Amino acid sequence: MPVNCIRCNQNRAILKRPKTGDAMCKECFFFVFEEEIHKTITDAKLFKPGEKIGIGASGGKDSTVLAYVLKTLNERYNYGVELVLLSVDEGITGYRDDSLESVKRNQIEYNLPLKVITYEELYGWTMDEIVKKVGRKNNCTFCGVFRRQALDRGGLILGVNKLVTGHNADDIAETIFMNILRGDIGRLQRCTSITTGNEGAIPRCKPFKYTYEKEIVMYAYFKKLDYFSTECVYSPNAYRGNARMFIKDLEAIRARSIIDIIHSGEKLAVKKDAKLPIQGTCERCGYISSMNLCKACNLLEGLNKGLPKLGIGKTDRLRKQYNLSPAYSLNSSMANLSLKSSQLSLNSEKDCNCDCGENSEKSCSNQAKNSNNQLNNKLETIVDLNF
Ligand code: SF4
Ligand code: ZN
Repeated sequence: MPVNCIRCNQNRAILKRPKTGDAMCKECFFFVFEEEIHKTITDAKLFKPGEKIGIGASGGKDSTVLAYVLKTLNERYNYGVELVLLSVDEGITGYRDDSLESVKRNQIEYNLPLKVITYEELYGWTMDEIVKKVGRKNNCTFCGVFRRQALDRGGLILGVNKLVTGHNADDIAETIFMNILRGDIGRLQRCTSITTGNEGAIPRCKPFKYTYEKEIVMYAYFKKLDYFSTECVYSPNAYRGNARMFIKDLEAIRARSIIDIIHSGEKLAVKKDAKLPIQGTCERCGYISSMNLCKACNLLEGLNKGLPKLGIGKTDRLRKQYNLSPAYSLNSSMANLSLKSSQLSLNSEKDCNCDCGENSEKSCSNQAKNSNNQLNNKLETIVDLNF
């Protein structure tokens, strides 16, 4: 027997909302889906009028729906933000080249500017070349670390105030679960935040934090959005794959499981005496890092020296063997300082390396004038690293 939509009670219901099980017509589903994202954005005060927002666009369903919904909400509610698309081309033949075609079609359809930044121009390596060197076991480590910096780099070129990504509720639940399994307290604390990276180059926001993956697929399907759905040809990420299957199994029994995991993650309190990584900056490229060398510099050094295992897991022995400077954690180096506060503040004053003539970055007017520029310059060196 036909059922009427639970919301309008006029149209025939043609779908069952995965998040709530409510029977709905298409138009009401579109409306509640968009309104929930609008509520997430306004509750967390994600955007301010006048801001330039970079949308991480991969051509996949999440980022395609994100671009479409943000454009719709920006017009409907006058957010007053400028939206731009930012894509990272990892150099994966048969995957990213095809998905970027979807991004380019959407760019025209949505009338949004697009910037594509490539691993090749940033690091001198495509993922195809990296996989040839490192094989198919650790490729996602390289790809994930490089993508993070590439997005920041692209964001700085575009001059965006914030980056938004299509991470959805399922992704976040998986990450919480994986961080619990790994005992990674630092990441566990951060992974539930809707905005991260305030201390880094550009803050990142997740407007889909409470949006179910199944609803994103449903929305894209009924709206007939143009997206690319093939998996990456190098996608062996078994650990996340298992976490994903576990979350999907839970969802099949009880749809609320996903949102409950996120709420539990948000409420987890870290003991005061828990040792957390100290965030500093990479000695080589200036990117945020809890080690003296950031992960990307470590991995890149390994690639360029023909030691692709460098930077994966514990590599102190390799570094010693090949006479490379050690990658120590900032935690241990801080502990060794025996923390005399006056001494620490003296030690942390760095000579200014611009042409202002000041002997400290703190008093440098140029450094203070444009922090975006400063970070941009630091990141600039990624391109020219000469190991
Ligand atoms: Fe990169 Fe791995 Fe994702 Fe492929 S599956 S795009 S190699 S992180
Ligand atoms: Zn670095």
